Amino acid sequence: MAKTDFGPPDFRELIPPVIKENYGKWKYHEVPQQGVLRHVSESGAVLHSVRMASPRLVSGDFIREISDIAEKYCDGYLRFTTRNNVEFLVSDANNVDPLLDELDDKGYLVGGIGNVISNIVHTQGWIHCKSAVTDASGITKSIMDDVKDYFTGKIALPARCRIAVACCINMCGACHCSDIAVVGIHRTPPRIDDELASKICEIPNTVASCPTGAIKPNPRTKSVTVNQEKCMMCANCTVVCPAMKIMNPAKDGVSIWVGGKVSNARTAPMFSKLAIPFLPNNAPRWPEVTDAVKHLIEVWAVNAKKGERMGEWIGRIGWERFFTLTDLPFTNQHIDDFTTAKTTFRSTTQFKF
Ligand code: SF4
Ligand code: SF4
Repeated sequence: MAKTDFGPPDFRELIPPVIKENYGKWKYHEVPQQGVLRHVSESGAVLHSVRMASPRLVSGDFIREISDIAEKYCDGYLRFTTRNNVEFLVSDANNVDPLLDELDDKGYLVGGIGNVISNIVHTQGWIHCKSAVTDASGITKSIMDDVKDYFTGKIALPARCRIAVACCINMCGACHCSDIAVVGIHRTPPRIDDELASKICEIPNTVASCPTGAIKPNPRTKSVTVNQEKCMMCANCTVVCPAMKIMNPAKDGVSIWVGGKVSNARTAPMFSKLAIPFLPNNAPRWPEVTDAVKHLIEVWAVNAKKGERMGEWIGRIGWERFFTLTDLPFTNQHIDDFTTAKTTFRSTTQFKF
């Protein structure tokens, strides 16, 4: 294998010996208790994966602590799932209970498997990204504190529920395909600092950054102009050129979308759709957002049939009934009249020839 200093190491170097030895031979898995998966191989070998929530943006101390725990109970083998759950890969079944006890002692949440909510994924937020409306990790932490009983399985749900948080409409998290998605929204087009733009921004790059073609060069000011009708407040131009000032603390806020899923099971994958167009960006605990998310989970949990994801439930009862049951107002913002929207994207592998 060619040696390179690009990218992560080959995954085969990092998996536990029991997985290497039984690669492609795993026969079935079961869930002996919430948060524990028991995988059984054709050879009779058994591997337990113990799943716990992570705070998503993690500290060095957290990494050191979970590494020490992994060294103690599973020869150092752990992995992060796509939803940022931490999974300890335990080859010795005798270590499962002591590991669960230690995680409990340290206050970590174990769960996230099957008909529960999984760890919440989020985008970078104020910490890393220039276009962020809000602090995605702060909202995520606040929501998880409120819905943790749905993660640990203490409160039953009809089906699995995926929650995602994105800090702008670029949604570089999994918001378009999550059961409940919290998306930060700018609500005013960028204000242009002409002097700054002429000094520090590459005008062709700034023009090219706009997905709707709203930005044009302005030779008179050596800056740009924005066609406000065409601007969808995505903040792409802000990332490229800091003179495009889109942040507006009084107007920026948070929206909530529902009904997305990636899975091909039962029905085709679905894109999430707008449920709540605006909630205030109320740091540091976002009570309006956490209440809304909890409310949506509760209404779905009471009304859905067993196995019915949020989008499947809405598909069965219809949007009108959804707005009635959730007591959410239906507004003109719910009508998608964006003229260049792509409505024919294929989102399914369920082909019929
Ligand atoms: Fe957040 Fe948008 Fe930046 Fe992604 S592009 S990290 S969603 S602000
Ligand atoms: Fe274009 Fe987005 Fe900037 Fe508006 S915010 S001008 S749509 S890049």
